[in-house]
Amino acid sequence: PTTQTAAPAGTQRSAHLFARARAVTPGGVNSPVRAFDAVGGTPRFIASARGAWLTDVDGTAYVDLIGSWGPMLLGHAHPEVQAAVAEAVARGTSYGTPTVPEVELAEEIVSRAPIEAIRFVSSGTEATMSAIRLARGFTGRDLVVKFAGCYHGHVDALLASAGSGLATFAEPGNASPSTPGVPASATELTLVLPYNDRTAVEAAFAEHGDRIACLITEAAPGNMGVVPPAPGFNAFLAETCARHGALFVSDEVMTGFRASRLGQWGLDGAVEGWRPDLMTFGKVMGGGFPAAAFGGRADVMAALSPQGPVYQAGTLSGNPVATTAGLTTLRLATEEVYTYLHQVGDVVKAGAAEALAAAGVPHTIQSTGTMFSVFFTGEAVTDFAGAQRQDLPAYAAFFHAMLDRGIHLPPSAYEAWFLSAAHDDRAVQTILDALPAAAEAAA
Ligand code: PLP
Repeated sequence: PTTQTAAPAGTQRSAHLFARARAVTPGGVNSPVRAFDAVGGTPRFIASARGAWLTDVDGTAYVDLIGSWGPMLLGHAHPEVQAAVAEAVARGTSYGTPTVPEVELAEEIVSRAPIEAIRFVSSGTEATMSAIRLARGFTGRDLVVKFAGCYHGHVDALLASAGSGLATFAEPGNASPSTPGVPASATELTLVLPYNDRTAVEAAFAEHGDRIACLITEAAPGNMGVVPPAPGFNAFLAETCARHGALFVSDEVMTGFRASRLGQWGLDGAVEGWRPDLMTFGKVMGGGFPAAAFGGRADVMAALSPQGPVYQAGTLSGNPVATTAGLTTLRLATEEVYTYLHQVGDVVKAGAAEALAAAGVPHTIQSTGTMFSVFFTGEAVTDFAGAQRQDLPAYAAFFHAMLDRGIHLPPSAYEAWFLSAAHDDRAVQTILDALPAAAEAAA
């Protein structure tokens, strides 16, 4: 934790709001990654956003590389999404009955993803929590396998060696247990393995295979920074699960409709010809509203209440405004959008690589589809231990130098940099102009 010092010029209103927020909210934020504890300083309170830009309460504009941590694929305040949402709001905001947009969004996702049925929830956490309950209920088994550095939301059983905010605040080499408040009984049925490690997976299944309900993995981890699966790794996981009667749960909350139009599965499963038993979605599919989902094989999903015995429910699940925002976003997310995201991503990655190399800052840039992150280590990162070898003070210096030049990166070295279809030449040029000095600051 950093000590707050006097706010630099131009952040007085944010600093004042942060003081008010800290008086009534732990750490002054409603999700830990929003705090600047890892990088120091005052979080900017954002008053409005449009396209690629955020504007804070002091009137400073920033090129946004957080993208609400993934959802804002089309950029902020997209006119067609705004209009659809305004129309939906005018019809009332929540009925607690079945509605039209939830059927349309379900059909849209089922037509694209390798799933036969889907159930909506309101957050990615609910999606993964429900998916592992369903996997346990369907198989009649208890054990869950996850990978260190993968974050699946704040589900008790999955808060063992988790990424995202937990990676940001973990002591290197002391990644587990992730948090007080989770009883040992909640994680003692969770096996945590190193990512990309086939030998560890084989050993775990050899020893416990007949007790494993499911293996859950980020389809391509983004919560320890972007760590692509080694070629064939997801196929190997799917095959291993099938061989042992366990379910393969692919968490595409972050990668879904982001890494490609068909998510990470579009990059490996669709090419290699395998499908997960269950998948989880969130972020982009909510178009900036709280909407998430889990879905999969028809026979597995049929075990879900009221069709089957496994209970799961939600007051705002499939909310008509959220599903309208998600549906409109997905319909606008054409192949051209992903082609564009590849193009701007390549420009930003090349700019970052050039600036960091010129300044002599060890770095590694890793991508999966249109998702990428910049690691502050010279070695390729294939697992959580590799991500933890980053030079965190160097990232903090880089982050602040970028912020001072009008670029808002994620305030953590363990995150993807999210671009949007609204990152136009001006936004990209602002990033490129800032990179050399920021790299010098990190040197
Ligand atoms: N799964 C993955 C891969 C995520 O990236 C996240 C959030 O970052 C979650 C699950 C949890 O989603 P939520 O924050 O909506 O609960």
